[in-house]
Amino acid sequence: MPPRKCRKLAQQKAEVVLQDLVYSNGLTMQGLKRVVEKLKATDGLDDVEGISIKHSIERAASSIMQRISVTDTFEYASDGGKCAFALVSADPNALLVIMVEEAPCVAELYENACREHPPSQERPWSLVVCWDEFTGGNILRVHPNRKKVMSIYFSFLELGNAALTTVYGWHGPLHIRSHELKRIQGGFSAVLRRYLRRQLLGDGSSHGGLATSGVPLTLAGRIVAIFARLAVMSSDGEGHALSCDWRGASGFKPCLHCDNVLKRDSGIAPGEFVEVTCTDVTRFRKRSRGGLLAEHRLLSDAHRARSAGRIRQAEYDRIEKAMSFNFNPHGFLADSELMQYIDFPEIVNLDWCHTILQDGVLAMNCTEFFAASDKWQAFCTYINEGWRWSGALERKVTYIFDSVFKEAGTAKLKCSCSELLSFYAILRHFVETECNDPALEPQRQALISVCEMVDVIQAIKKQKLSCDEGVESLKRLEGETLKLFIKAYPDARLKPKCHWLLHMASQIALFRAVVDQFVVERLHHAAKAASQKLPPQPRFETTLLNATLTRSLTSLKAMPSIRATSLCGKTAHWPNKPGTLLARRLQFEGCEFCVGDVVFSRDRSFCGEIAACCCSDGDKFFIVIELWEFTRHASMHSAVYRPSAILRGVGVADIELAAAWIFLGGHAKVVW
Ligand SMILES: [Zn+2]
Repeated sequence: MPPRKCRKLAQQKAEVVLQDLVYSNGLTMQGLKRVVEKLKATDGLDDVEGISIKHSIERAASSIMQRISVTDTFEYASDGGKCAFALVSADPNALLVIMVEEAPCVAELYENACREHPPSQERPWSLVVCWDEFTGGNILRVHPNRKKVMSIYFSFLELGNAALTTVYGWHGPLHIRSHELKRIQGGFSAVLRRYLRRQLLGDGSSHGGLATSGVPLTLAGRIVAIFARLAVMSSDGEGHALSCDWRGASGFKPCLHCDNVLKRDSGIAPGEFVEVTCTDVTRFRKRSRGGLLAEHRLLSDAHRARSAGRIRQAEYDRIEKAMSFNFNPHGFLADSELMQYIDFPEIVNLDWCHTILQDGVLAMNCTEFFAASDKWQAFCTYINEGWRWSGALERKVTYIFDSVFKEAGTAKLKCSCSELLSFYAILRHFVETECNDPALEPQRQALISVCEMVDVIQAIKKQKLSCDEGVESLKRLEGETLKLFIKAYPDARLKPKCHWLLHMASQIALFRAVVDQFVVERLHHAAKAASQKLPPQPRFETTLLNATLTRSLTSLKAMPSIRATSLCGKTAHWPNKPGTLLARRLQFEGCEFCVGDVVFSRDRSFCGEIAACCCSDGDKFFIVIELWEFTRHASMHSAVYRPSAILRGVGVADIELAAAWIFLGGHAKVVW
């Protein structure tokens, strides 16, 4: 081989090695630079002509970006299309190909899913697309109202519950600053339209489209085409409003699933239509894809008539209001080719966390309960009586009580989904045991009923309850909860979220899974952390994408498997048992167990404090607890146990975390 060709080959090889090093866990860019410098000095690896080490490393890191990034141009609405915004995102299909190629654990995940559910055009997989905004950016450098960022993530239901509940089962190909979304023609709906066209139809993608030609992945040396239909579009109410120019919860028709449900005090005579206060589910008329598209054609005609001056503005406004959608010719609903592949009203997922928890029905019940009962101060005292929480919850619960409640001085709950989820059980326990006033019975029942809904949804998600059984219980509870709420608080302003509650069971039944925004909240953490270091530059989207991809690829490359339950942090060998590892923390399907936490068996017959998290032979996970023996039931959701010094090993799938516990004279009262 001629020496020049030989050197070129060596350089290419060196770049591959460098790229691998860039995505190695525990190596910072600075650290890598030092390593390469040292290697150059000792091994004479100094023939990377004219290119600095820093440049080589940066090039290695950005070469993946170059393979997957795409640029879409959107015109600004205000200046009549004179200026344009160039959005750089990852081609979702190219991203999928790269992830499978680069991270063995992702390849394994897809291999397993393909074996269980071979994808074909006739039996396509189910694509899940989620989107939500987060507040990011460098606080010191970005104008406060420019900090919000909208992100899109995707996964597949076939990957299974374990993957869907961890961030590693998801891919994040697109981030865009919200203030740019407000300026571009068509807003987020236009961005989503381009995104979905690329992912489903393969528009401008050399990797094919999921709904058309399939996306070829190399799995175990074999090429498998992944075919998928769009099966879930998930976001909170505001996210859905942005995605399809829907007027949202405050609109005249405040439900995306129903086309005959009107807002409260609509002024329309009952008959074909009902208001959001209606609890009779048989009266709701399902919105169909045909009906939705017909409405949009009508809106488009009205817009044309208005532009030609054939109707007055007031009349046009009335039509838009009645439809509860704003006309948007750039939005995804206006794309007739794309809409052949999307049954939008069917696959909309109104996120349960936002419907029930954050500003949702549970938060409303709490606020109303304390307003009606005068028990607020008693609850604040009760919570400070020495209750203990699991490690993952401790910080959250303390935070809620230190800042949210005390500052507000009232009982209005303003906390995030995961914060409310972490303390609803102790709230229910307080209501069940400390609020025995018969006059409060309707309010107690209403609050307990919505807590039960949260129990059931969590049980389905953690696979402690089959999907069918869970859906049956939810169907019963949904209507019951709403009726109890109306009975307890006849004067309360019923929000549309109370009506959305009636769709929770049918959504879970359709998807055969609980799809929620908790994982999105966690995905946002990585993007948030990365965005805080970024300057407010025109290339914000590109840099953020690069940073989040590097981060996720670095962790994925170091991971042996995504499906496996994993020990977290430092590990040590069990004395005299070299095959068994010990750790302080263990993750299991989105749930974290930590030394010091209290767990109990499913039948509540015993309980115990975690002494160690263990793994033997690489795949057998168990937890060693200090056993607490059952003494007696204390209430519907609590029991008293007697701590002992006996140690016992328990399977991680057979236990659940306690919500809170308190020591009372040598015994422990445990709440679930
Ligand atoms: Zn509805």
